[in-house]
Amino acid sequence: MQKLLPFLIFCICFNSIAQQEFEDLSLEYYLPQDVSYNEEIPKPQDVIGYIPGEWHVTHDLLLNYMRELARVSPRISIENRGETYEGRPLILLTITSEENHENLEEIRKNHLALTQENASSLNVEEMPIVVNQGFSIHGNEASGSNAALLAAYYLAAAEGEEIHELLENTIILFDPVFNPDGLQRFAYWANTNKSENINPDPQDREYSEVWPGGRTNHYWFDMNRDWLPVQLPESQARIETFHKWMPNILTDHHEMGSNSSFFFQPGIPSRTHPLTPDLNQELTKEIGTYHAEAFDQLGSFYYTEENYDDFYYGKGSTFPDINGSIGILFEQGSSRGHAQETDNGVLTFPFTIRNQFTAALSTLEAAKNMRKEILNYQRNFYKNARNSAENGAYVFGSDKDASAAYELAKILKKHKVEIHKLEEDLKTKGETFRKNSAYVVSKDQRQHRLVKAMFERRTEFEDSLFYDVSAWTLPLAFNLDFAEDIKIKDAGEKIEKLSKPEIQPLEKSSYAYVMQWHDYYSPKALNMILEKGLRTKVGMQPFTLANSEYDYGTILIPVQNQKLDSDKMYEFLQKVSEKSNVQIEAINTGLTQGVNLGSNQFKALEPAKVALIVGDGITPYDAGEIWHLFDQRYNMKITKLDTRRFSRADLSRYTDIILPNSWGSALEKSDIEKLKEWVREGGTLIGYRNAARFFEKEDFMDLEIKKDSLVAENISFEERRDFRGAQGIGGAIFEANIDRSHPVNFGYSNDKLALFRNTTIFVEADEQSYNNPIQYTETPLLSGYISAPRLEAIAGTVPFKHTGMGRGNVILFTDNTNFRAFWYGTNKLLMNAIFFGDEM
Ligand SMILES: [Zn+2]
Repeated sequence: MQKLLPFLIFCICFNSIAQQEFEDLSLEYYLPQDVSYNEEIPKPQDVIGYIPGEWHVTHDLLLNYMRELARVSPRISIENRGETYEGRPLILLTITSEENHENLEEIRKNHLALTQENASSLNVEEMPIVVNQGFSIHGNEASGSNAALLAAYYLAAAEGEEIHELLENTIILFDPVFNPDGLQRFAYWANTNKSENINPDPQDREYSEVWPGGRTNHYWFDMNRDWLPVQLPESQARIETFHKWMPNILTDHHEMGSNSSFFFQPGIPSRTHPLTPDLNQELTKEIGTYHAEAFDQLGSFYYTEENYDDFYYGKGSTFPDINGSIGILFEQGSSRGHAQETDNGVLTFPFTIRNQFTAALSTLEAAKNMRKEILNYQRNFYKNARNSAENGAYVFGSDKDASAAYELAKILKKHKVEIHKLEEDLKTKGETFRKNSAYVVSKDQRQHRLVKAMFERRTEFEDSLFYDVSAWTLPLAFNLDFAEDIKIKDAGEKIEKLSKPEIQPLEKSSYAYVMQWHDYYSPKALNMILEKGLRTKVGMQPFTLANSEYDYGTILIPVQNQKLDSDKMYEFLQKVSEKSNVQIEAINTGLTQGVNLGSNQFKALEPAKVALIVGDGITPYDAGEIWHLFDQRYNMKITKLDTRRFSRADLSRYTDIILPNSWGSALEKSDIEKLKEWVREGGTLIGYRNAARFFEKEDFMDLEIKKDSLVAENISFEERRDFRGAQGIGGAIFEANIDRSHPVNFGYSNDKLALFRNTTIFVEADEQSYNNPIQYTETPLLSGYISAPRLEAIAGTVPFKHTGMGRGNVILFTDNTNFRAFWYGTNKLLMNAIFFGDEM
């Protein structure tokens, strides 16, 4: 009791301070008081009904306020750039002086000219600087978007010389909410759990969201990893704005753990990507002095050059750095709900909002003062890039999977990379590139640094720690053939508008139709056919007809004895081919070379009824990637089975159940028995990553997982974390040999496959070689960081394992084959497990 009492008093006292702060909350708490504010401009509370910070703003209210500001303020225009998966508009405010608004298009063109050839004659004296300010890309880091209410108000309403000077010299691209769906999800949580009497007890329900939380978007993606791969609609809108304007500074307002203060970049110097110029980091540091000054005045604590880095270009604060811009990360200690006890006393939501607002203003102050220096930096970035550009070109493509090559080309187009057709079929270094399924990227172009950052394979690093992945080499992610030194004369015409790969119209047959399994979208087509209830088979062996070769996994659809007559069937398959953009061919004889069409080597397929285990204990990202893959790419229904309701679920409805990566035990003992029973009855269970340990422990599978035998020698207490960290695999790319005759590899046309991995689970290969259809090579590292002992450990192990159990199957992938929606190259492995699991 004696010990407890002072602590209680401490808490009570802080409680009442927090309560008071909420009761006294006014706009004055936030806004600079040395300027006047235009009375004509509505204050946030006039539209949303409360002072920012009292509640967590919902997306609809935030939208209302921004629209109202744009309606009344001549300084602000608003546009809608698309919508989220949940149909919320992706708005952007452009904020600048009235005069600049009148010449906006001209200003934009002049600004872009800085990045183009002959920019040296341009005069930056009178040129505005462009600042892109974005908030709360992680929806449950809400102080950013709530601060956006205040920042927008300030920029619309403040009066006086200072704001005029700022708006005359600055174009502000103001994105109040990077992640509308996530923000909405989180606001619902924080508001519905708020008490009238502010309760900062961290154990209150208010401070621990239900799964999956508001961090992610609709499909549970971390959108702050998608700036480079641009697979999500929110990122697509942002990236379009970015390239349309080429902003000089881009800020990204986040939150971190509640016991932390405030972080601003630069991050850890040794962890900056080597393609980023040193001057970028120096300017970031100089901008930092403005934040420091503002925070000193406010009395708020902060830190810099720790914890975070500028390595992976798919993050909002790093992507700008490879585009001649300066990306800046802000991280505010999170109150999560409305107020929470922390190591620094009670951290209130209004306090966090005020810090974010302050950083937004200090950014603009820095931009205004450093305007010419930063504009020149951008100009020189592109000048130097052009001077260092090499001759020649890259080529990528796929002889058999034109869709995968097309999807990569789409990413390049989104980043304003110039791409060309291939003039003629090209053979180089053992690879053949076909002119209708390959693309050429000249090295001598404005965006060549960005292209390099996307295409390069890197295995040497200054540091051994990474905040995120250490590799993302796109041609490997898409499993494409790639050559990086072809002659530019091999390039054909420039592609202005990218169009889908061409396929031949389907001819009618009264005998059979076949579809090769190489194309990325072939699972979409197969699913449509099976859903229609058509008898369909898969070829376990290759065959030849006329001069065409049909590979392992070719899909066969007989015409006779089907529920559709031959006319209806022809019509239907035409639709399938059109919708999936996959080639289907008519065949008029069963007498093929190799296996004949009537052979037992063609196995009957069943429609897939797939369930995905989600909820407490499951990694939302991994689950979301699978949901997205089925729902968005392949138009396949997938049932999200929550771990909470698993014991009551009728599993007999499903042919396949996917267990994504999990931590702890996501399932109860009785659930595990139920799952086993379902497998024995004929179900196919597919597990990812940590499922390896679960399968081993619960006897789903006989596995030999290598023991972690790492021992620290001469590592001090201080170094311990870095030592452990350096042994992790944050994300790197490894090469495996594949046995193409195994159904898990159907559709692949090379004997090697690049896999993305972010675990250190190493499974020993089986004694029987035919049970190792995917096996890491002896020197598997293709790109990214791995420590020497880990590299030794991974060589020769297997990332895939299949076991029969009763009448069913248990399948394991230790690697994430669906990583962040841009690992197109290994998506087919999961589809093969789903459709051909029974044939393994
Ligand atoms: Zn964040």
